[in-house]
Formats: sequence, structure tokens, C-alpha cells
Amino acid sequence: MYVDMHVHSNYSDGSASLFSLIETAESKGLEVLGIVDHGEFHICGMRWEDARKRNEKIKMYNESHDVRILSGIELDIDISGGVQRVMENFDIIYGAIHESCTGEEYASAVKRAIREGNLDVIAHYGWLASDDVYDEEIVELMKEYGVAVEINSLHQLPSDKFLRKCADLGIPYTIGSDAHSLENVGNVEWAMKKAKQFFDEESLWLPEQKI
Ligand SMILES: [Zn+2]
Ligand SMILES: [Zn+2]
Repeated sequence: MYVDMHVHSNYSDGSASLFSLIETAESKGLEVLGIVDHGEFHICGMRWEDARKRNEKIKMYNESHDVRILSGIELDIDISGGVQRVMENFDIIYGAIHESCTGEEYASAVKRAIREGNLDVIAHYGWLASDDVYDEEIVELMKEYGVAVEINSLHQLPSDKFLRKCADLGIPYTIGSDAHSLENVGNVEWAMKKAKQFFDEESLWLPEQKI
């Protein structure tokens, strides 16, 4: 299955409109497209009223297009593990750290976010950490709280070790290009390779699994 579940539109820091993202995804043969914009905590994040408008448009485009479009948000996990409360409905909620810190700070922030943040997926786990972020306890918490792992092609994360542990525990995965422009939509070669290496295709996360 050819999917890209993490692209940004011009509602946050992407350069492309919703419509052009969707048309491009269709022309590239994608079956699922996740339009994921940053939440308010992020410097380029969308405000809730814009998120609402964006979600309505996505709903409308879903009816007139073959590609299945997911309306998503990427919430910032702050360094203490805090995550903003979500004020709209989304098909997919990613949580991600976007600031530099040590591996230890990183892992402890993500743990709190998994417990308290109501997240569906952890995005690009390990990005911006100054050292190793492998932590078995995180994967166990993901299992316990039903949080999936993103395989992110842009940042080429998480590590093999982390992915292997996720697969061993039966944690679902998503695939993302993290595209911020049209030309990168569907550039998920690295992620697909890792998915094939570690997971069964049935472990692909889709919103039906949402609790
Ligand atoms: Zn991100
Ligand atoms: Zn992103």
C-alpha cells in the first residue's frame, strides 16, 4: 500500500494548498494522504478556528477524490512533556518534539506525553536529541496507551533498534514524508523500506484503530 500520512499544507509551514497536495497525491498514486499541520504551540501552527475550516475542506475534498485524506495535527511536546489539549476532531494526532535537548530529557518528555497527551502517534522519535534516545520503557508505554510509531522519511527516524522493539510488541506504524512542499509528497522510500524490514503490512495504523 502506497501511503503518505504526514505532509504539511499552507495552514502551517507547508508551501502548498490543500487542493494542490491532494491533486499531487492522486497523480502520484497514493492511496492515503495525511494532511498534518502544526498545532498552536508551534511557531507556524494553525489556530483552532483555522483547523476547523481546514477540516471542513478536507471532508469536502474526500468526497470528490479517490485518495483517502486524513485530517491530522502535529502537536508539540514541550520539554517537560506537556501537550496542548485538542479542541477539534482529527483523524490522526501526532506528537513530536521540536527543540534540542539531551536524550534523557527527550525520553522523559515523551513518556509524559504518551501518558497524558492523548496522542495517536509519536512522530520522528529522536529528532533534535543530542544523544541516544533508545528507551525500552517508552515502547512499553506506547503499547499500553495504544500509541503508534511514525517511520519518518525526512529525518530517517526512529532507529532500527527502536523500530524493532515496536514491531516485537505489535505496535502499529505510520509512514510519513514530512513534506513541506509538493515535490516531496509521497517521498517515503526510506520509510517503506524500514516498514518492510520490521513490520507486517497489517500493522499499518489507520483511524479505525482509534479508541
Ligand atoms: Zn515535526
Ligand atoms: Zn511535520
